[in-house]
Amino acid sequence: MSLFQKAKGAFKSAKCKVGMHGGNYSKMEGKPQCYLSKTCPDCDEVVVKNKHKYGNDFYVREMNCLKRSTCVHCDHAVEKIIHHYTFDRVDAGCNVFERCARCDLVKKTNSKKHTWGDWSVTAPGRSSRACVFCGEQDHKQIN
Ligand SMILES: [Zn+2]
Ligand SMILES: [Zn+2]
Ligand SMILES: [Zn+2]
Ligand SMILES: [Zn+2]
Repeated sequence: MSLFQKAKGAFKSAKCKVGMHGGNYSKMEGKPQCYLSKTCPDCDEVVVKNKHKYGNDFYVREMNCLKRSTCVHCDHAVEKIIHHYTFDRVDAGCNVFERCARCDLVKKTNSKKHTWGDWSVTAPGRSSRACVFCGEQDHKQIN
């Protein structure tokens, strides 16, 4: 590194100090299309970034919910879990459970499915009913 470059580096702009370097990204030579780099005109720092273009995601294995998509330019991959939940059952507390059709994972949902009894008048202008399983109350105004 020359003296001139050293001096230049010592006077990094405020933006450079927080990693916001100037310059425009261009494709890197000898690298896949998704590799970009730029040289900051203020501090000469070379900044490299990837701009992957992911293809369609696909399940990696049968009976497993890991999905992968691979960059069309290089072999960089991202993975995510995507379950296919469908209704499974309701427990004694009326909590709804769902089961994944692919991997059999069961999860408790935030929703409840009550089995309501009949409405009865509990106070003037007010009607109530209760769930026959968990006792949850439901009220409504009546005229
Ligand atoms: Zn810079
Ligand atoms: Zn890539
Ligand atoms: Zn699953
Ligand atoms: Zn209930």
